[in-house]
Amino acid sequence: MPTTKQRELDLSEFPPGTVTEYTTLVCLACIFDIFTKQLNLAPRTAFSEIKRHTPTIEELTSRGAMRPYFDSEEKHPHCPYCGSAKRWLARFDTYCIEGGKTTDAARRALLRKLPKAEDQFVIQEKKSDSGAVFFDWLDTLGRSLDLNDETWLIDASRMYLERREPKTNWDEVFDELRAVRRSSRLTEGWERDGVRLFLAPNLYSEALLIQYLVSRSHAHGGLTLEGRLTLSELIRRLRYSGYLEQLGITEHDPGEVFEKLINHLAATHEWSSYRTAGGSQRVGAASKKARVRTGSGSDRVAVAKRSSKKSSKPGRKKLAPPEPEVIVTEPVKLHYLIDRRDFLEKVKSVYASYAG
Ligand SMILES: [Zn+2]
Repeated sequence: MPTTKQRELDLSEFPPGTVTEYTTLVCLACIFDIFTKQLNLAPRTAFSEIKRHTPTIEELTSRGAMRPYFDSEEKHPHCPYCGSAKRWLARFDTYCIEGGKTTDAARRALLRKLPKAEDQFVIQEKKSDSGAVFFDWLDTLGRSLDLNDETWLIDASRMYLERREPKTNWDEVFDELRAVRRSSRLTEGWERDGVRLFLAPNLYSEALLIQYLVSRSHAHGGLTLEGRLTLSELIRRLRYSGYLEQLGITEHDPGEVFEKLINHLAATHEWSSYRTAGGSQRVGAASKKARVRTGSGSDRVAVAKRSSKKSSKPGRKKLAPPEPEVIVTEPVKLHYLIDRRDFLEKVKSVYASYAG
């Protein structure tokens, strides 16, 4: 009998940042009302239809839920539409898992362990791309941090690194950490020295960039480990650190450079397999298979090189139309795992009290 309230799924096999959790409440009184009054179903039919019901991904994950769904942080929530109390309210937990090399095995193992009966769990897939995944990740990152508390800079550095090097035990690295600094010694990777973490210039530059992106709508300019920076100041630092050169970015206009940087980050969702123009050195030993990405990913470096050669030919650049500012991305499959257990239980208990 499903009397256990052990609801939590074990997601510890997934690299941090690859699973996003959503919780949505649904009011069974409202949904019952919709099925009987708007769809004109008999109560009994309505209940059996409701039992089969799974909300759409949009209904489960959007921040502005609509009747009969709603979000609530309260311990004893009430339906905002009809005022119904707890026993009428059911919870859907949705886990959005980014498909890819770092998550596929863990996802399959998780699915094998889940109960199959009665569609207690439902899987839905959605095609997305690395650009959307990146901006969603930034959005989630921004919401999870308190930008008024300066320690967020260290937290953001950590979340960036977790995504960049998913195999590293960052709990250990960030334990009691006080500061993140740019290393003048390392050319790649990182090292901890006392309470400080030193990052190679490319990692440090990307951490600054992520911080800038997270905070730029919060502050004038963006807040970073280097203080509050305007876009020009940020770009100057990235140029000075050699990061722009490493990516093959030769533009000087801050806006153009910024777009190239965004394109770079959005080009793949598996940052651990990044390559930079500086060499074939892969940062992070996440996977041995350095697969060349079809069409977009790895080619972007070659594209950047080609266009810098082109621009040295006199006249060529002026004749060419402005480059289309399309973000080159790669496809990513999102796997939504919907936990319907609470919903099924509540529907049954509500129906039992209704019929009895
Ligand atoms: Zn309601």
